[in-house]
Amino acid sequence: MTTTKKKVIGVLALQGAFIEHIEYFNKAIQLNSDNYLSYTFTIIPIKTKEELQQCDALVIPGGESSSMSYIAERTNLLPHLYAFVADENKTVWGTCAGLIFLSKQIQNGLENQKCLGGLSIETNRNAFGRQLDSFVTNLDFSKFIPNCNNFPAVFIRAPVVTKIFAENDSSVLTKIPKSGNNTSTNTEKVQVLYQLELDKNDLIVAVRQGRILGTSFHPELADDYRFHQWFIDEFVI
Ligand code: GLN
Repeated sequence: MTTTKKKVIGVLALQGAFIEHIEYFNKAIQLNSDNYLSYTFTIIPIKTKEELQQCDALVIPGGESSSMSYIAERTNLLPHLYAFVADENKTVWGTCAGLIFLSKQIQNGLENQKCLGGLSIETNRNAFGRQLDSFVTNLDFSKFIPNCNNFPAVFIRAPVVTKIFAENDSSVLTKIPKSGNNTSTNTEKVQVLYQLELDKNDLIVAVRQGRILGTSFHPELADDYRFHQWFIDEFVI
């Protein structure tokens, strides 16, 4: 008898584009089912600590990072999110607002906006000017996703990474709610996965710090399932 390994991927469902992520994971799994014969995946929306505790991986979607932070605090999920992000056995991916929520410092966060500190970076919200509020551009990700040299990256009021902190830099402390437990234990090095060249500036739009991934853009709106497949292959199984 063969046994399958069970993996649960949760998508934070407080606000924003969580349904799309769930659909894209299911589609990526279906399209590559031959590669996943020894796995059983469950993709679930996450609103409560009980749901979060079932997860091996968590995706924080795009939306509005301040609203996400406020809702997480109001519903008492915030301390559990801190704990999840700090847990070395868990994997996390944030897209757009999710990248902001995962950062250690927000350059232009709103009052009392919290961040989870899993990525040792500073982000700037809404970093592209009005004219570039939203755009799609084909990017070459083949340096980290095999053969993926034409991925349609969707940017919507997107953030960029404006600073990378040294590992273990304790001078920057994420604002921690009283009940929180953010010791930000991610001691891996921040790796820049992609820089977007714009008006002679290189803008950091994808980073990885060990088991935590952050992207400024929205692969869950790309009509292309390769990014989600890569996340499963590289971070989940
Ligand atoms: N600008 C939004 C924020 O600050 C992010 C936009 C998005 O997720 N598409 O959270």
